[in-house]
Amino acid sequence: MKTKNDLRIAIIGGGIGGASAAVALNAKGIRADVYEQAPELGEVGAGVGVRPPTVRCFKEWGLFESLEKVSTLSKHMEIIAGDDHLLIKEAWPVLTDDTSEAFARLIHRADLLDTIVGAIPEGQLHLDHRCEAVIDHGDYAEVKFANGKTIEADLVIAADGIRSPVRNSVFESVQPVFSGYLAHRVLINTEESLGMASDENILRIYVDGDNSCYFLPLHNRNQISVDVTVPGKFEWRPEITQQDLLESMQGFGPTVRKVIENTKFEDIVSRPLCDLEPIDKWTTNTVALIGDAAHAMLHNQGQGANMAMQDGEALAKALAESDSVAEALQKYEEARKPIAQLYQKLSRMFPTEQAETAFPEKAHFSEA
Ligand SMILES: Cc1cc2nc3c(=O)[nH]c(=O)nc-3n(C[C@H](O)[C@H](O)[C@H](O)COP(=O)(O)OP(=O)(O)OC[C@H]3O[C@@H](n4cnc5c(N)ncnc54)[C@H](O)[C@@H]3O)c2cc1C
Repeated sequence: MKTKNDLRIAIIGGGIGGASAAVALNAKGIRADVYEQAPELGEVGAGVGVRPPTVRCFKEWGLFESLEKVSTLSKHMEIIAGDDHLLIKEAWPVLTDDTSEAFARLIHRADLLDTIVGAIPEGQLHLDHRCEAVIDHGDYAEVKFANGKTIEADLVIAADGIRSPVRNSVFESVQPVFSGYLAHRVLINTEESLGMASDENILRIYVDGDNSCYFLPLHNRNQISVDVTVPGKFEWRPEITQQDLLESMQGFGPTVRKVIENTKFEDIVSRPLCDLEPIDKWTTNTVALIGDAAHAMLHNQGQGANMAMQDGEALAKALAESDSVAEALQKYEEARKPIAQLYQKLSRMFPTEQAETAFPEKAHFSEA
């Protein structure tokens, strides 16, 4: 392999996965350039729970203090029935032999992305670069952009999301699978949650059958991320009315509905909930899929962004420890596929009144 410093690494996509890969590589002294189609980076308003294995990545990248400043520590999650009685209160699970890891750090996605992107060295983030084609020549690849530019790379990391054009041209062409549900997300001020959000950094999920409404506190912003999941018709940008949304929420308690009724409807962002069937091959000798491009999953386990960030770290670690790009990519795929595909499967389980645990993942890890 060329020396790590000479490798030409192109990351396609500057979302949470692509930005993490760049920062993880940089932390290991390996340069990577990120090419993002959008003229600027941004994330729509929704909260994320950053889980302990991901927090370890931030420590590895020297970004833990930055993460700490914009996130709050949560110890519990609650599932509450439509009629507002508490069904489950459960500590975040310990999934390793480190008992101090029973937590999640709650954060707004924009703050998460800003924290990561802020650590990409100057000159390594290229906006307005929509990748149109990746031609894999075996030991290098050509990347063509819509703006007319073409580059060559020894390693292309495709972090271009669930609809990944790179995956669909270099690997198998697969289409997102629609779950039948839409997610309607909005940020409200804490006082506007009418007591439905916890004061103690507890992620609350109100459930009505397979329908759910998440209240995720973002104390550093004095805001609550509200995320309503209800059935709907597939459209990438669903057009629904406030009336439709409130009708689909009939089974929730009156206060939860009141919160949505009081919300400025233009602030609600609606998206179809889609995932992918497991993909057999994530890597060639030169091209690797990471994040949603490799394993998009439903949001029910809150693991999609976590998996994307951990992929970035795993790929960087494999590259730092290998003698060739091909060897590194094989190690990366072997390390990440089992865990990501497990979460893809578990994420198809919706939180319901019948759920015995808020964390079905626990059955798959030996708890300390
Ligand atoms: C409602 C909802 C709630 C969620 N909640 C959580 C949660 O609590 N916890 C959690 O861990 N995850 C959560 N997720 C999942 C998480 O948001 C995703 O898994 C994560 O954002 C994936 O990151 P990514 O970088 O792989 O892809 P993306 O975020 O989709 O980023 C892909 C990037 O690639 C760019 N791109 C695409 N095509 C091209 C191209 N041709 N050329 C150049 N650039 C391109 C895009 O513009 C984008 O910036 C949730 C998802 C949803 C829908």
